[in-house]
Amino acid sequence: MHLSFFRNRLWKMLLVLAAFAGFLGLAEDAGRAEAAASHELNYFKYETFTYEGRNWLRLELGIKGGSTEYSTNVRELTPKQLHVILSDTARGKVKSDISLDRKIAKYLTLRETGDNALDVMVSLNKPVADQAYKIYFAEPERHGKKPYRMVIEIAENKLDSEYEAEKPKTPDSFENLSGHRIVLDPGHGGSDSGARGHNGLMEKTATLAISKNVADILRSSGAIVTMTRDSDVDVYGPMASDHDELQARVDVGNASAGNEIFVSIHCDAFTSPSAHGTSTFYYQSSYRGKLLAEAIHQAIVEETGLASRGAKTARFYVIKNSAMPATLIETAFISNYQEEALLGDPDFQYKIAVAICRGISRYFNMR
Ligand SMILES: [Zn+2]
Repeated sequence: MHLSFFRNRLWKMLLVLAAFAGFLGLAEDAGRAEAAASHELNYFKYETFTYEGRNWLRLELGIKGGSTEYSTNVRELTPKQLHVILSDTARGKVKSDISLDRKIAKYLTLRETGDNALDVMVSLNKPVADQAYKIYFAEPERHGKKPYRMVIEIAENKLDSEYEAEKPKTPDSFENLSGHRIVLDPGHGGSDSGARGHNGLMEKTATLAISKNVADILRSSGAIVTMTRDSDVDVYGPMASDHDELQARVDVGNASAGNEIFVSIHCDAFTSPSAHGTSTFYYQSSYRGKLLAEAIHQAIVEETGLASRGAKTARFYVIKNSAMPATLIETAFISNYQEEALLGDPDFQYKIAVAICRGISRYFNMR
């Protein structure tokens, strides 16, 4: 009925779109020419050497234009990478993919990012956390014909003293939590494993590890912590009905009128392994539950870098039936390969615990 009219319109729309795309293309080229990076790589060399009994790999990247700002980022999942991101720098004539020594690092990849930054990715054999590295700038060497350059040195292993130096000197603690009474509910346990990751991590294991870290940090902050479980057990008893098991957890919290908040810790799961991110839930009619959930959710997103799926309402049994502001945290997806690796990693278990405690601390500051 409206076909001819539509056809007519369609042609016009296509013409307009084509013109617009052309305009965008031109505009983009012009933008690029205007804001070209003021630094450019002009040299690359790598060598291995031994220093004080350790093998090192040295990467030298010549930089035309001198010193530039940079940041580092590590990726501990496969591929294990050390990223050094140079701002305002172009790749120049240096190859984008270079094989390295293979003992310490496999290859170097150079990628220009949209914002004139250059991502220098070193793919390593071992996690970055187990290797020592240094980054510095070096002045030109006239005799060796080396230009001004950035030097990245990576040792094959880390010394005990280097691990020690990295440990936080004082455990994380939050001053305003002293005296507050907090209930922690590590999801699942005992006969109930919860969800299971593709590489075998069980939800009950991850939730307990994270919850124990949360309890440690809260207690070192002077809070009074009650846990529904602090080992691999069912709270009601083995093979109980969901209702009995969940009510038993609610009962632990409700047993003391002095308990102020109830925090249940879980891992999310979905049929598709691509689902990922963190979400936090509260019961619709609980205003303070909402404040608590939002404070924790915000801190987790800020501090862990997990994608936010939001702080949302739900009718989960434990948050509906707790006699105090309550929240249920779906920390990350155990059904996602990368997040399963994170959930099983002690460093991440501690990191997300600190974030949960920071959220709790912010919540108590709102009163
Ligand atoms: Zn769960």
